[in-house]
Amino acid sequence: MALAPSWPFLCQNVIRETSPRERFFRHPEPVAPPSRIWPVFLTHKGCPGRCVFCAQQLQSATAPAPLEATLARLGKDLDAAARAGRGPYELAFYGGVFTGLPHPWPERFLAVARGWRQAGLITRVRCSTRPDACHPTILSNLAGQGLDLVEIGAQTFDDAVLAASGRGHDAAAIRRAARDIPAAGLELGLQLLPGLPGHTPDMLTRDVAETCALAPRTVRLHPCLVIDGTPLADRYRAGAYRPWDLDATLDALAAAMLPLWRCGIRVIRLGLAPEPGLETAILAGPRHPALGSRVRARALFSLVAAEAAALGQRPVRLDAPRRFAGELFGHAGELTAAYAGLGLPREAVHFASREDFHLTAQAV
Ligand code: SF4
Repeated sequence: MALAPSWPFLCQNVIRETSPRERFFRHPEPVAPPSRIWPVFLTHKGCPGRCVFCAQQLQSATAPAPLEATLARLGKDLDAAARAGRGPYELAFYGGVFTGLPHPWPERFLAVARGWRQAGLITRVRCSTRPDACHPTILSNLAGQGLDLVEIGAQTFDDAVLAASGRGHDAAAIRRAARDIPAAGLELGLQLLPGLPGHTPDMLTRDVAETCALAPRTVRLHPCLVIDGTPLADRYRAGAYRPWDLDATLDALAAAMLPLWRCGIRVIRLGLAPEPGLETAILAGPRHPALGSRVRARALFSLVAAEAAALGQRPVRLDAPRRFAGELFGHAGELTAAYAGLGLPREAVHFASREDFHLTAQAV
């Protein structure tokens, strides 16, 4: 019998009123309005020390520069963008500890942003910082001056791992900052760094649960890499640190995605952005040029597999939104066999212009 698709309900995981041999579900990733980021790298400015994994200069391809020079360059570049009719942009201060910059530097940067906001070139302003540099008075001052979102480098909620990574703060500081940032009227972003010294995939599962409870707007997941010139590279060479392997990292990150998405949290970055000079400086660690899409595809597979299990019968057809056509079978089709194992070889998967997935079992 031909299994013609029927679409009576466009609802997520509701099968009550559908046939027991079908499941309708949606991808849980929150949708966000597009935003163009204008990054400003404040390489190591405001850092109280050096975290063992950090090589900001290579990660951002930006050498440390005096704040005065960074500010002057920013004003000049924004002026050129406005004259060229480019934008609008979300201004993002990365690579240092923005809320830990000496007074009045955060205020001076935000004053420039405010000027260009009035002109329509800048729509929002975000910064990255450390959890222990988030005093409520500073946060509310900066919120009043136009800061919108603060991303904290949490890395993990495990105190022993934080100590072994030279972070200089504990998990209580992360929880405090995650409470104080929204209390100051700012949106919260959070970064996790799976694979730090002593960190395990089970700890990442707990980190994700804590993250969901703190309800940040955005999350970044950067698996820990060994970058030349860092204290971690010395430990790696001495045999005192071993990074996670790539396959275990892909699985652990994929397992993190679904709970984050289901909590309405956008995962805005998976792995470090490629920068000139960074690739050759990476000594070891889980990296791949398509890491993000491989993780997303595995997360989607686990969603489909869970729905197939809930179906209680072997599926024979999957109708999927066309926008997942390039992602579903994974990088270079690496998940094709896994889908076939579910009962969904390539010929059983059909892409259509709609938003819900429809899984069908064989009629009895
Ligand atoms: S991780 Fe953040 S606080 Fe630590 S050294 Fe790098 S920029 Fe500074």
